[in-house]
Parts: sequence; C-alpha cells; structure tokens
Amino acid sequence: MTAPPVATIPFFSPDLFEEDREALLHIVHAVGTGRDQKFILGERTARLERALAARIGAGDVVACSSGTSALTLVLAAMDVGPGDEVVVPAFGCAPLAATVIDAGARPVFADIDPVRLTVDPAAAEALITPRTRALLAAHMFSVMADMPAFRALADRRGVRLIEDSALAQGGRLRGRPAGRWGDAGLYSFVQVKTFGMPGEGGVVITDDVGLAADVRMLRNHGQDGVHRFVHHRIGHNSRFDEVMAAFQLYRLAGLDDRLARRAEICAYYSRRFAPLAERGLTAPPEGGDGRFPYVYTVLTDDRDALDAHLAAHGVTAHVYYPRPLPAQPAFAPYARPGGSWPNAESAARRTISLPLYPNLTDAQVEYIADTVCAFTDVRRGTR
Ligand SMILES: *Cc1c(COP(=O)(O)O)cnc(C)c1O
Repeated sequence: MTAPPVATIPFFSPDLFEEDREALLHIVHAVGTGRDQKFILGERTARLERALAARIGAGDVVACSSGTSALTLVLAAMDVGPGDEVVVPAFGCAPLAATVIDAGARPVFADIDPVRLTVDPAAAEALITPRTRALLAAHMFSVMADMPAFRALADRRGVRLIEDSALAQGGRLRGRPAGRWGDAGLYSFVQVKTFGMPGEGGVVITDDVGLAADVRMLRNHGQDGVHRFVHHRIGHNSRFDEVMAAFQLYRLAGLDDRLARRAEICAYYSRRFAPLAERGLTAPPEGGDGRFPYVYTVLTDDRDALDAHLAAHGVTAHVYYPRPLPAQPAFAPYARPGGSWPNAESAARRTISLPLYPNLTDAQVEYIADTVCAFTDVRRGTR
C-alpha cells in the first residue's frame, strides 16, 4: 500500500466553495447595495425556485429555511396534527421523527429493507391504521426508497405520501426524479448535501397547487404574499436568503458536473469493493436505477475495527446513525412498547461511510479504496 497522498483525508470536503469565493463576494455586494434592500424572499429566490422546478419538471418548488423546515411545512400544509399517525423509517436522521412529534402527531417507526437501508414498504403497510395520515419515506446515503411501491401503497390506502428526498438531489427512479414521487418532496441545501451551500436552506417540491400555496403561506407566518399582516394560518418563519439564492443560481450550472464526479468515485469504489462481499464487506452495487451519489456507505460486522484502521491510515470515515431512531432517548417514548426493528438495529451496528466529494483527487480515491481492501486482507490473515 502506498503512503497517503495527504496527511489525512477528511470526511467532509475541506474546500467546498474555494472556487466560488469571488462570485460569492460579488453577490454579497450586489444584494447588499441593491436599491430595494431585499434580503429574503425576493426575485432571486423566485428565480431559483423556477430553475429548480424546471430541472425536474415539478409543478412548484418553494424555498424555505432548511430541509427540516421543509418537512415541518409539508406536515402543517397536510394538516397533520394531534391524533394523527405518520409512518416513518426506524433508521435515519432525527428530523424524520422530530418534525412529526413537533406537529403534535405520533411517529410510527417501520423497519428498513436490509439491503437498500430505506424504509420497507411491507413493514410500513403493516403499520397503517385508521389514524394514519401520511407515510414518510426517506432516501438514504445513495439509494432511493422503493418509491413505486410507496406510491402504490399510499394511493391504495388513501394516505398522503411525503418523500424525504433531502439528500437525493440528482437521483432518478424509472425516469422520475427524486422529490417527485411523493405528494411532496424536498431538498436540503445544508453544506454537505450534493447541492449544499454556505448557509441553511431547503425547498419543498410538489405538483399539488393547493399544497404549494399553503407551504408558501406557512413559510412566512401564514400570509398570502398579497396582504401583509393578514394571517390565514398559524405559520412559521422559514424564509429564504437572497444572497444564498443568487449563489445557488450561480452554482446550479456546475451541479451536473459535480454529481458526475461523485458518481464516478462511487462507481470506482463499488468496482474495487465488489470482491470483498465474500470477506464480509457489502458495498452498494455500481450505478443502477434509483441511485444518487451523496454518501458512500458500506456494511461490515467489523465496522468499528474498519473505522480505526482507516483512521490509523489517515482516512476519516463517518458513522451515520449509530442508533435506530426508536432507540434514541428523545424518541423512545414514542416508540411502540415491545417493538423491534432488527434491520434498523443491524444497520446501526454495521454501516460506515467513506469520503465522497467532487474535489477528491484520483490518487486519494485510490488510496481510500486500497486502505479498505487492505483491512479485509488483514482480517482474513492473507498478509
Ligand atoms: C439533511 C437531511 C434532512 C435535514 O435537512 P436540514 O437542511 O439539515 O434541516 C432531513 N432529512 C434527510 C433525509 C436529510 O438527509
């Protein structure tokens, strides 16, 4: 194995917006000195919404203050509240449960598919009751949830479908973009996401005109955008920043190239790791429908040892979600007593994610793959 190309390879990109610094300074100046002094929800935000909607053929895109807030706005627009249940994944990030609880409803945790690591439609269906208002399916790491099954299930059972596509920008399944399978979808622009930015923001995606109008009202204190200080609904402050809107419009042109570079790195990892399956390390397959290059995650029973091996060789890995959601202190009181989520528990013990960002060099990517392969050699005693 060769020496690491740099002292350590960080998990998150150390210079995300380096090339965009001049452009960002220019935008700050332009917005800051603009005649109308409009810093939120102005023409730039509207242009970004239209550009994103056009990219995926969505009926409407509504910018808001984060991916989490997008979920909150969608739940509110769907009138999800006390007495309602929302079926959510047992494995994933906190907002999947927290936003439902904040809405006054109850999250009902469904186990995940052991291979996709996304919520299992059959497990979700078994949990539908007369109180169920919505299913919340979330894409994970680099794999879309089984959205055709969820779409069919939601239609058959007459419940709303929320698609948490916060991290799946660029994904497509059967030709349909991530974010367009649900009654509403969303993106997050927090910096580490594929269309991340140096600040907080997100969008709601929907073809439902009424839902879009409600989300627009709810993001700005329930006002309709025409009459100030008339509050039709109890809303939120979830507005979007004009500097960030202009910056995202500028960065949109390079998004496909950055996604392609990420996909190239994923494909390389998967080619290198395919033979490791027989040594107990499972990697996602190379490419395929419903894939998107956000976080590259492998599964191994030796997760903690692999993490330590990578760290010792200068590669920083990351363990997302070491506990299933129902096992989190905050959410355990809402979990079904006696419930068990064996696939979520297994994923929480076995997943580990490798560095993946467009500005990794080929040498770094090769070194990371070498380091993972060397670990499985050592474990097998072949060295
Ligand atoms: C990132 C993420 C969120 C939250 O987005 P924020 O912008 O950080 O609030 C929600 N759901 C999923 C699946 C995410 O990956």
